[in-house]
Amino acid sequence: MRGSAFEEVFEELGVYDEFEPTLEPDDPRDIVTLSYRRREWDEYKTVTQKQAMADPTPFFRLWEATEEEQEKTIAVMTELVTMEDDDIAKLDNITMKEWLEARDVPAPLYNYMGFQANASLAEPLDLVAASEQILIMKQFMLQGGGGQYKGGFGQLTTIMAREFERNGGTLITGARVERIVVEDGAVKGVESAKGNFTAPVVVSSAGIQPTVLKLVGEKYFDESYVNYVKALVPGWSFTSVRYFLNKPVMDTAIYVVWSDDSWLDTERFRKQKEGEEPDEVILFMCNHSFYDDNAAPPRQAGAGLGNGLLAEPPTRRRSRASGAAWTARCRSCSRRSGRRRSARSTTALATSPTSRATRCCPARVASASVWRRSSASAVR
Ligand SMILES: Cc1cc2nc3c(=O)[nH]c(=O)nc-3n(C[C@H](O)[C@H](O)[C@H](O)COP(=O)(O)OP(=O)(O)OC[C@H]3O[C@@H](n4cnc5c(N)ncnc54)[C@H](O)[C@@H]3O)c2cc1C
Repeated sequence: MRGSAFEEVFEELGVYDEFEPTLEPDDPRDIVTLSYRRREWDEYKTVTQKQAMADPTPFFRLWEATEEEQEKTIAVMTELVTMEDDDIAKLDNITMKEWLEARDVPAPLYNYMGFQANASLAEPLDLVAASEQILIMKQFMLQGGGGQYKGGFGQLTTIMAREFERNGGTLITGARVERIVVEDGAVKGVESAKGNFTAPVVVSSAGIQPTVLKLVGEKYFDESYVNYVKALVPGWSFTSVRYFLNKPVMDTAIYVVWSDDSWLDTERFRKQKEGEEPDEVILFMCNHSFYDDNAAPPRQAGAGLGNGLLAEPPTRRRSRASGAAWTARCRSCSRRSGRRRSARSTTALATSPTSRATRCCPARVASASVWRRSSASAVR
């Protein structure tokens, strides 16, 4: 990612040499695999692309976009990417769905935004603020979508904590803060399980609602601010599963799969909650060893190609979580998933955070249409 905030912090701390991105935005390799199905198609189509997303060509190929769709897409995305940050910030009270529907947006672009709202923001398109999604989409296009660093993100925070201590800070971990103390209208410190501490400034990362309503207490804030905080809706969430595989199944670093019907808005979510299981889910898969050899234990002989998802872990052959997923039965083809699946079926095998759907064959999943038919009116 170009212009990461971590870069600035490392420079200021005087440890810029230790800032080691493993993925540059102009990496010449194809980094991302996009797999997508339009509602009227039977099959998913797939393209690969480099990281930076300013070039719409792979999307147009993927979408089989008509010239008219291409022109409209370019118009909307040009508006989005050239917006000043100040103007973006004014869109806090308008949803991304409202922003898109005020424009002439081709269906594949609209559905891509629906997918991105879920995949990048863990939000539905009809709740996420346009300011948030536009900012992220702009960063995607101008700075590259992903940041990866040698040793992983944990290594960055380890170095930052080390420098904090080197500069005289004391790091106390595992200390639950019970109260943020406020006296005479100003913060005075914290009370924690490991003692009380005075401080002129307190930074809380516990989340805005727990911080304002519980740790500080609402009586210390204006009523209008308390009402604003209470009305905030927490983001949705998604489940990650880490697989340890003994041979490569992905030839790019990131693999995303979506269709016109697989992303969730509140209406689709409501239907699922009421028991209507979706035929398709969105998938986001990441192969960390693509950009960092040390992200995985040494590969077994013959695993080859330098792009395995992850090698076998050294201590046990597979985790409980992956074991459970590997023995799940695909509801489309009724086969037991097994270790000798093809790369295609392996990549498609996943459990959804919002459904219990488990699939191994995307083409057949795509053709199952009960949910699709019933939700066709929910989206353009
Ligand atoms: C499965 C998953 C995958 C994700 N993938 C990505 C990704 O690929 N890229 C990306 O950019 N983001 C990703 N995110 C989002 C990212 O992890 C979060 O946005 C980020 O961690 C939020 O940071 P935070 O410091 O605000 O909160 P947190 O990371 O939640 O940190 C808050 C901390 O405060 C502590 N705490 C809470 N209350 C108290 C208390 N009373 N006293 C003391 N400590 C307290 C908590 O224990 C916690 O350690 C992912 C999130 C999930 C769940």
